[in-house]
Amino acid sequence: MSAATWRSQAACLDMPDAEDVFFPASDVPSAYDRARAVCAGCPVAALCLADALAVEPRAKRYGMFGGKTPDERRALAAKCGDRAGTEEGYQRHRAAGERPCHACTGAHGAAIRYAS
Ligand code: SF4
Ligand SMILES: [Zn+2]
Repeated sequence: MSAATWRSQAACLDMPDAEDVFFPASDVPSAYDRARAVCAGCPVAALCLADALAVEPRAKRYGMFGGKTPDERRALAAKCGDRAGTEEGYQRHRAAGERPCHACTGAHGAAIRYAS
C-alpha cells in the first residue's frame, strides 16, 4: 500500500486541530494523551509508525506517529535498529532467531493485511 493510500485511511485525517494534538508545545508524555487516544483507534497505525521510523532524522524526532511519542520512537530505534517498526525489521528479528518486537510485529501484520 502506498503512503498516499494508507494516509487516506488515517484516523487523524481532516482533524482541524491535528497540529496542536500531534505536535504539542510540550514534550511531556501527558501532552500526547489525546493523540495517543486517536492513534489507538487508527487502522493504519503500524504503517504510520514504520514510515516515521524510516524517514525521520534520528536526531530530530517530533510529534506523535503511529501511537508513539518521539521518546518512544527513540527507544524503539535504540532497541531494534534503524529498521524498527518495519517488515524488514521483522524479518531481521526472525533471521536472528529473536522474538520480533511489538513495533515490527505490527508492521508485519500490516504488510500482510495490505498486501495486494
Ligand atoms: S497512527 Fe496516529 S498519527 Fe498515524 S495516521 Fe493514525 S492517527 Fe494519524
Ligand atoms: Zn523490532
